[in-house]
Amino acid sequence: MRSLSKADVPATIRDKKAELTSSYIASEGRTVPWKARDIVASLAVETSDKCAYCESRVGAVAWTHVEHIKPKSLFPELVVDWANLTLACPRCNQYKGDYHSDEHPLMNPYTDSPEAHLLYFFGMVRARPGDQLASDTIRILRLHRLELQDRRVAAVERVDSLVHDWARADGPLKEAIEELIAEHLEDGAEYAASIRAYLDSVGFEPSARVAPPAFTSAASGQVAGDAPAHHGPQPATGER
Ligand SMILES: [Zn+2]
Repeated sequence: MRSLSKADVPATIRDKKAELTSSYIASEGRTVPWKARDIVASLAVETSDKCAYCESRVGAVAWTHVEHIKPKSLFPELVVDWANLTLACPRCNQYKGDYHSDEHPLMNPYTDSPEAHLLYFFGMVRARPGDQLASDTIRILRLHRLELQDRRVAAVERVDSLVHDWARADGPLKEAIEELIAEHLEDGAEYAASIRAYLDSVGFEPSARVAPPAFTSAASGQVAGDAPAHHGPQPATGER
């Protein structure tokens, strides 16, 4: 999970929010106003077409679900509230279901800075010690589910291979490999939070600001998550 920012309010919500909300409530949930094309398109832009919770790209193989952060069954007045909408994969959407708890809330990627709460160790994701918000979110959304861990490991291994090539390369080739690695940190890249943590753990910094000897040294000891300062937003690599 990574921090997200809301895009501009789509015209359907800007112009018809009250009307759509009242007709949804009056129909007892039989209308689906959140499926308007401009709403889905704007959500795809702000999430880079990835699940807001697990960072899986699902649009190519399954219908992406418009996700009501506060469930519409409990908060029908928020059915087309722009701040309450995002995209989620079918699995996260199903696990979350109608869950809502004021005492044990789930992390909101738009307001809770997931980078400050979640630690990634290759395929695994863990809560920072004592972080109830992170623990509850991982547990309810099952962000530690095996198939997700496998996909994160595969993503990290692809980058790991590039980093080894990068460490041995010089000049233009080294710069070209850096660009390939940077693509794995872009907003649209799957599991970019895991990859960011891995790159921090091995001391990778683009543009050869970290020389290979330092890289070798860092790789021998540091584990992802040991240095919280490394997990903040990284504007230079496209994080939001
Ligand atoms: Zn998901």
